[in-house]
Amino acid sequence: MQACNYIQGQWKKATGEKTFEQRNPANLAEVTGEYADSSQADTLEAIAAAHEAFGPWRAKSPHERQAVLKRALQLIVERRDQIAVTITRENGKTLAESKGEIDSAIKEMDFQIAEGMRMIGKTIPVEIGGTLAYSTREPRGAVGVIAPWNFPFNVPCRKCVPALMAGNTVVFKPASLTPGVGIEFTRAMADAGIPKGVFNCVTGSGRNVGGVIVGDPRIKAISFTGSTPVGKGIQKQAADNLTPCQLELGGKNPAIVLDDADLDLAVAAIAKAAYACAGQWCTSTSRVIATKGIAPALIARLSAEIEKIQIGDGMDPKTGMGPVCGAEQKTNVMAYIRAGLAEGAKLQPGADVASLSTEGSCFIKPVMFTQVTPKMKIAQEEIFGPVLSVLTVDTFEDAMALANDVPFGLASSIFTRNLSHALTFMENTHVGLAHVNIMSSYKEPQLEFGGVKESGSGLPEAGTSGIHFFTEHKVCYVKYR
Ligand code: NAD
Repeated sequence: MQACNYIQGQWKKATGEKTFEQRNPANLAEVTGEYADSSQADTLEAIAAAHEAFGPWRAKSPHERQAVLKRALQLIVERRDQIAVTITRENGKTLAESKGEIDSAIKEMDFQIAEGMRMIGKTIPVEIGGTLAYSTREPRGAVGVIAPWNFPFNVPCRKCVPALMAGNTVVFKPASLTPGVGIEFTRAMADAGIPKGVFNCVTGSGRNVGGVIVGDPRIKAISFTGSTPVGKGIQKQAADNLTPCQLELGGKNPAIVLDDADLDLAVAAIAKAAYACAGQWCTSTSRVIATKGIAPALIARLSAEIEKIQIGDGMDPKTGMGPVCGAEQKTNVMAYIRAGLAEGAKLQPGADVASLSTEGSCFIKPVMFTQVTPKMKIAQEEIFGPVLSVLTVDTFEDAMALANDVPFGLASSIFTRNLSHALTFMENTHVGLAHVNIMSSYKEPQLEFGGVKESGSGLPEAGTSGIHFFTEHKVCYVKYR
C-alpha cells in the first residue's frame, strides 16, 4: 500500500507504476519506503475526483462532516506512537519531538473540528424596510494543500481539517522528503470513512503534482507552506485563475536580549528555539540581538548549552538532536556555515568545519556564530539548520532596528523586564507572531498563525482565520414585506 496515491477512495499506483525512494537522514543507506512518483495525469485525476465530490460533501450537515473527522482524530490518537516513528525515520527529528508534533496536531484538529460547527455569519439592519440582510460563509470547492517536510504531520492537519469541515474537498500533496507521513495522515482519513473523492493524496514532485494543482482552474484555493521562492512562484501561477492563496513561508526570526533580561529564562528559550528539530522550525530563533552588557554572559551560557546537546539517531531516547532532513539540506546548511566563516564571523565552539557534519548521514553539530554583522548572509538569509547568529548592539533602539532589518517577518521575541521596552517592541516588531519573555516558536491553535513581509501572504492559518480562508462570503438581502 505504501507506494500508492489515494484518489477517489482508492489506493492507486502512479502511472507506469513509477516510484521514488525515501531515505532515513540518520542513515542514508536505509530506504524507509517507496512512494508513487506521480505524473501530471495522476494529479489531474485527483483534481477531477475532488471536483466531483464537492457537491455531495458540501450538502452534508456540519454534524456529518464532524463525525468523519472525529473518527479520523480518534485513529490518530490511537496511532500516535506508530506515526511518530514514521516522522522520525523520514524527517530525522527525535521521537519525543515527533510525538510532540502529533500532540500539537491533535490539538489543532480538535479546535478546527469545533470551529467548523460555528461558521458564523452576521445579520445587519438595512435602510430599506421589511428586509432581512445577512451574510453567510460557504465552502469554495476543491482546494489544494501543499505541505513542507519540517512539520509533515501537523501542517497538513492544520490545513486540511478546516478545509474539510467548511465543506471543501481536498487534493493534498505531501513534501517529497516526507511522503510516508503524508500517507499516515491519509490513512487516518480513509479508515475513518471519508467519502470517495473528498480527500485525495498525491505524492511526487513539486512540478508534476504541486504545479498541476496550483494551475488547475477547478482548484478554488491553495494553502501552501514552504520556502519563500516556491511560495512566490505559486502566487504568480495562481494569479492566472485568481485562485486565493494562503502562503506560510520562511523566517529569520530574532530574539532580542536586553541587559535587564532574566538570563536563565532567555538562555533556555533561545537554546530550545534555535536547536529543537535541528533548527528546522520555520519559527526557530536564528538571530540573537543582545545589548553589550549581557552579551558576554549570554554567549558563554549558550555555548555551554550547545555542548550539552547530544546528536544521534532520533530513535535513540538519549538523542537530544537528530540529523537535518536530507542530503541537500545538509549541503545547504554547511554552505551557510562556510559563508559565515568567509565573511569573518567567529564559530563557537571553534571547530574544523569538516568535522561538523558526517558522511553517509545528515548530522550537523549545533553551532553559534558571534561577531556577526548585520549584512552578512548568516544574518539575513534563512539557514534552516542548527546555526545561531549573535549580533551585539549598544541600545534597545539599535536592537529594534536590526530585528526588522531582514526581508522576513514571521516570528520574534524579546527578553527584558522593562515594560516600556517590551511594549515598544510589540508595537514595532514587524512579524506575524511576537513574544515577550517566551521563545519565538511558541503558539497555540486557537490563535492565528502566519507571517508578514516575505514570510507569508493571505489569511493566516489556525485560530478563526484557519477556516475563514477556506470560505467565500456571501451577503443576502431578503425583502419579505
Ligand atoms: P519547499 O518550498 O521546497 O517545498 C514545499 C512544498 O512545495 C513541497 O511539498 C514541494 O514538493 C512543493 N513544491 C515545490 N515546488 C513546487 C511548485 N513549483 N509548485 C507547487 N508546489 C511545489 O519547502 P520545504 O523545503 O519543504 O520546507 C521548508 C521551508 O518551509 C522553509 O523555508 C520553512 O521556513 C518553511 N516553513 C514555513 C512555515 C510557516 O508556517 N511559515 C512552516 C513550516 C515551514
